[in-house]
Amino acid sequence: MPEHLAISFPHMGGYSIVFTQLMSHLFPTARVFPAPPMTQKTVELGSRHSPDFVCSPFKYNLGNYIEALEQGANVLFQTGMGCRYGYYGELQEQILRDLGYKFQFLCLSRERAQPMALCRSIRELGCTLPLSQMLSALLLACESIRAMDRYEYWMRESMGFEVAPGSCEAVREQLFEAIARADSLQDLQRAKSRCKQATEAIRTNKPPNPLRVGIVGELYTLMEPSSNFFVEQQLVRESISVSRAMGIWFLLFGKNHRQALKNSGPYLWHTVGANGVDSVSQSFAYAQRGYDGIIHMKSFGCIPELNATPALMNLSRDWNIPILHLSFDSHTSETGVQTRLEAFADMIRMKREEDGVANSQFGRGHRFGVHQGRSGG
Ligand code: SF4
Repeated sequence: MPEHLAISFPHMGGYSIVFTQLMSHLFPTARVFPAPPMTQKTVELGSRHSPDFVCSPFKYNLGNYIEALEQGANVLFQTGMGCRYGYYGELQEQILRDLGYKFQFLCLSRERAQPMALCRSIRELGCTLPLSQMLSALLLACESIRAMDRYEYWMRESMGFEVAPGSCEAVREQLFEAIARADSLQDLQRAKSRCKQATEAIRTNKPPNPLRVGIVGELYTLMEPSSNFFVEQQLVRESISVSRAMGIWFLLFGKNHRQALKNSGPYLWHTVGANGVDSVSQSFAYAQRGYDGIIHMKSFGCIPELNATPALMNLSRDWNIPILHLSFDSHTSETGVQTRLEAFADMIRMKREEDGVANSQFGRGHRFGVHQGRSGG
């Protein structure tokens, strides 16, 4: 066990703030810091030392670990389940050891993610807090995640219509800073109230029926914006209202596999691994709610999302809703993604206009529900 703990972990969206908050409460004397910000160098480092065929979350995380170790980290965290990611930790640890780094690796996957095993790992790392304080820290972290996810959900839907550019982002930064400093649920409650007031003060000129796009797909690609070239921000610049249900709160407390399968309607009969079922059930909901388009994002080689793709294609055909499939890895061209997004935005805009003409000619309800039969998937 290192004498002075320097704890670090990979990035995934803004959640590193909450993980820093949690670890700082559990290990008050430790130096806790997220891996350095994602850059091209991070991706290059991770890719250089990863098996070529492995999916990009592995490569991004490995790049994060290397940069964190270079900054003096001596304890690294890894967690993940639901697909082969649950088996990546051992391989990442071995690669880092082969590179000559000395560190402790806490891999909280599979059975090690069970509450008792988790508690044991934290204790073994030197946490001496009573159980009640550990639980308080955990509760604060969960509530922080809920506050972040709620605000970001609203922000994605509204940011494309803000009157003063940057006002949504400014409130987000304030909220995140307050979460990083929060020591108790009372602190968090005060931060949420300030955020609510600031949100109400943001002026938007959102039309009653804006263009709406739903985002579904592989969780890491969805939640780590640098891994998808900030797709959501690009859509927002096109004045599109963006919806994405996937977030850590959803994964921890909202995910219900059986319900998702049921909500996939005629498009899935069986599970397809990881979050593939969620991609289908959420897409089905977007289609039923009359969204203008869906973007399906995944890492190159992601089997669960590949499995979900035929069901999504059937859904696209039946509901006449365009779905843009984007696959990312370390070789993906940012310009290529931008061009496809611009074309997609133009296409759904034109389709909206054409459907408007068709609806006025044939009456409303012409657009959806062409075929409701079981299409397979
Ligand atoms: S869900 Fe897909 S991309 Fe994500 S870790 Fe699993 S296989 Fe890789």
